[in-house]
Order: sequence, then structure tokens, then C-alpha cells
Amino acid sequence: MERTRYLETVHRVVVKIGTHVLTGDEGGLSTTVFDTIVNQVIQLSEMGKEVVLVSSGAIAAGRTLLEPTHPNTSIPEKQALAAIGQTQLMGMYQRALDRHGRRAAQVLLTRDDLSHRRRYLNARNTLFKLLQFSVIPIVNENDTVMVEEIKFGDNDSLSARVTILVDADLLVLLTDAPGLCAWTDEGKPEQNPIPFVKEVTPELRDLAKGPSDPLGTGGMATKIEAARIATEAGHAAVIADGRLPSVITGILQGEPIGTFFAPLKDRLTHKKHWIAYSLQKKGELVLDEGAVQAIVHRGKSLLSSGVVEVRGRFDNGEMVVCLDENGTEWARGITNYSSQEIREIAGRKSSEIESVLGYRLRDELIHRDELVVMTKGSGVGGQGSG
Ligand code: GLU
Repeated sequence: MERTRYLETVHRVVVKIGTHVLTGDEGGLSTTVFDTIVNQVIQLSEMGKEVVLVSSGAIAAGRTLLEPTHPNTSIPEKQALAAIGQTQLMGMYQRALDRHGRRAAQVLLTRDDLSHRRRYLNARNTLFKLLQFSVIPIVNENDTVMVEEIKFGDNDSLSARVTILVDADLLVLLTDAPGLCAWTDEGKPEQNPIPFVKEVTPELRDLAKGPSDPLGTGGMATKIEAARIATEAGHAAVIADGRLPSVITGILQGEPIGTFFAPLKDRLTHKKHWIAYSLQKKGELVLDEGAVQAIVHRGKSLLSSGVVEVRGRFDNGEMVVCLDENGTEWARGITNYSSQEIREIAGRKSSEIESVLGYRLRDELIHRDELVVMTKGSGVGGQGSG
């Protein structure tokens, strides 16, 4: 889709802020930068948009607090610096948000967290709840527990995963380059970025090979890779200069800032395919006629009241098949509750879930965004599939 038209439709956005954007030239975190970023986030929020920040800067903050002149930092040293600096980082965000009477929430994640379906869903539910509370979630890698196998490695990659996790329309990667551009012989980015990328190709990656970032990690290569991950999953991305005033609001207002990466495919189709064809069936839910009608013809979520029987043993986050009472399959979806939990709440209203189970994870057993209506014999289709 064309850039301006796509950006007009953006509702939820993930903004990744690199260490250099936050520190400026001095090396320490700059209050002015936090104020500028937070002012824009608040403006977007007041326009009804939802913003999740993925922020680096913990190690840099820890370094200025503890050992500003230490040259080579080992992994455990970096982890310690991140643990020291993370509180400072969050403090800076909270102070900037205080001026607007808003709250920040710290969310620390590892790659391992997002590859476990249950933790993935828990992280997602928490983030959605924070957005619902109008709190600004600020995500960083949980550097304390990172070891090679479980770390994202850089916050660019983390931000792409978070974009998919919260189903954001757009990932904005803020850096200290004007966008995706070729590099000069002196190792400086050219001033004019490529405005539009339809697909991330190997040639494009070669063009953008620049020096990696000594303070943070990554550099342009990891930003392109993040844009590739996001666009392949159907989300748009922009790489832009985080030091420009009003960069975030400008991008969303359609100004030609940085490099825009168009989504490669339709997000819902991608997700429907994943649910319907990639996930293993773990159980079955037999639905009454009303529930079948609601999900197949009216695009509704599946609620506990419509379930008449639960077959098999499954956990929340697993794929289950929805059948009518004659055994015909109508839909597949990701359940928010386990088989044991559904056995207790089947036939009951959503408002009763909490009193029966003692807690309530979501109102829906299967949210319509994760429910794929199957056209008999021909795979995915029909109304109500998302
Ligand atoms: N998690 C690290 C920090 O907050 C940064 C990683 C990165 O720059 O990509 O300092």
C-alpha cells in the first residue's frame, strides 16, 4: 500500500529508541530527549493511538553512573550496568510522563519468553491491559538473564517481535541516521535516505552495511533485519532519525521522513494461515447452534456460554477446533483457557468466569482475531474470520 494512505490507518505503533538517540553526544541520558519523545507519545495517545516503546539505554546509563571510563565491558559487566541503568532509564521516562499525569510500565523480555506460547500470551495480555489502562509500556531486553541462546541480541530484533506480539500496525525504529541510506567512505550515512522499500533484498542489505554501534548493539544491519521481520509478518516499518524534533508525530502525519518499509503481506491472512495450518490441533470444543452462527456469520468471538462439550486436554495458547453438535468443523482458534478451565466455565456467561475460576484471563475463550472460520472442504474463509 502507498505510504501516506497506510500511515493514515495506523492505530497501534511500536517505537524503538536506540541508545544514541537518548544519549546525544555527551554519553549520558539527556532529559531533553526524554521530554521530546514523551511529548510526541502523549500527542499520539491524545489522538487515540496506542504506543509501545522499546527503549535501549540501560547499559549506557549504568556506565555513566558507575564506570564512565572503563574501556572494554564483558557480558557480566554489561549485565550489571544494565541492571544499574534500567532504573535510571525508567526514572527518566516516568519524570517526563509526570508532566502529563501519565504512567510508565517496565516490561523486560527475553527471546525465550516469546518463543514459549504461554509466556508469549501472558506478555501480550499484560501489554494489552497496560494499553487499556492508558499506561505507556516501555520494553527492554531482560539483560540480567541473557545468555547467547536466549537473548534477542539487540533491541531492533526485540522491537520487531514486540510489533508482532501486540499486533501493531507500524514499527518505528529511531536511530542516529536519517533512514536507510548508503554510507560514505568516511563511515558516515549519506544524508538522503531511500524513501520507500517494497521488499528487503540482499542488495539492499549490502547497500546499507554500516559500522555497528559501539554503545548499543546493532547498527543499520539489525534495523533492516527488524524491518524485514516486521514486514514479512504484515506490519509496516519506518527507520528514521530519532534526533529530529517531532519525528514520531511527523511520520504518523504522513511527512516524508526516513525510510518506509511496506508490509509484504496481509497481516490477517498471514495469521489465519498460521493458526489454521501451522498449529497442531490440541483439542475440540463442541458449540451450540447460537455460538456457531455468531462466529461463522456475525464475526464474533467465541464465549464460554456457547460451549457444550470439551474434548481432549490442552493448555491455554493452544489451537483447538470448533465443531457443531453434528461433528462438523466450523473454525479453528487459539484458546485463552485450558481444557480444564473450559470444562468449569462451559455454558456460563463471561461475567461469571471470575467467580467460577477465581480469576479471569480474557472475556473470550477465543478472540475473533485468533479465530479462523473454515469453509468446509476448502480451508480458510468466510465471514467472522478476523
Ligand atoms: N538492552 C540494552 C540496553 O538497554 C541495549 C541493547 C541494544 O542497544 O540493542 O542498554
